[in-house]
Amino acid sequence: MTLDPVRAGRRVHLTDEGAAPPAGAPGKHDALERVDALTGRMDALQEALYAEAKRSLLVVLQGRDTSGKDGTIRKVFGPLDPQGVIVTGFKAPTPVELAHDFLWRVHQAVPPRGSIGIFNRSHYEDVLVVRVHELVPESVWRPRYEQINLFERILVENGVTILKFFLHISREEQRERLAARLDDRAKYWKFSAGDLGERDRWDAYTAAYEEMLERTSTPAAPWFVVPADKKYLRDLLVAEVVSRTLEDMKPEYPGPPDELEDFRRRLAR
Ligand code: AMP
Ligand code: MG
Repeated sequence: MTLDPVRAGRRVHLTDEGAAPPAGAPGKHDALERVDALTGRMDALQEALYAEAKRSLLVVLQGRDTSGKDGTIRKVFGPLDPQGVIVTGFKAPTPVELAHDFLWRVHQAVPPRGSIGIFNRSHYEDVLVVRVHELVPESVWRPRYEQINLFERILVENGVTILKFFLHISREEQRERLAARLDDRAKYWKFSAGDLGERDRWDAYTAAYEEMLERTSTPAAPWFVVPADKKYLRDLLVAEVVSRTLEDMKPEYPGPPDELEDFRRRLAR
């Protein structure tokens, strides 16, 4: 099974059932093997992209707390050459960032030619947490859907391929993952009291995610909804879309230098 992008303007209904593996999804053993093969292929394509140095790939990851943004980065992009991958996490904006328009910090983090950029959260927080917590009035956040579409179009027309993944987990799965963070010495640090406040706003976030998907999935910069209750399936589905996209980009190693024969002669001595 391969994920289809959210069709532009199409309303997606995010249900708990939609976070579980769909019928016909591969099992864990099978999925792990396929992720291995796909990341191997991604590694080869990424090296060619880096050598070509003409275009870049931007991968946006969004999802609720514990939805697996960090895990996806480690499992799907961990096997790639770190020199070609730039990961940027977006936290609550600093005073300096707040003194600029909301896309200012984001534009600076867009991967340069030859690299793969990963956003762990992104400019979409400005229509998610900002909307749910009413950090700015609706008259400010609502026009951002269109502003984001324009911004992403500018990037795409300038050589950036964009893929956006919403990691979709169910309410029960989040409960288990948050509880696990209170049960393990190695996980306490991941827990924040704020996560419980966000969980209390589950339905408000659902509405914000649904509208984000409807308004900002475009043919140029599509959203994919990833059923993410099972980590192995989440990784496989993301790896499939990313590797397929890199294949379609057909990155090419630069050809030989014009002076190839000359260089060879000079090296013969
Ligand atoms: P974490 O992903 O656990 O590192 O948490 C990052 C926090 O930063 C989350 O609670 C986000 O909601 C918050 N955050 C990210 N971007 C923004 C933004 N533009 N405005 C307000 N909060 C944000
Ligand atoms: Mg967190």
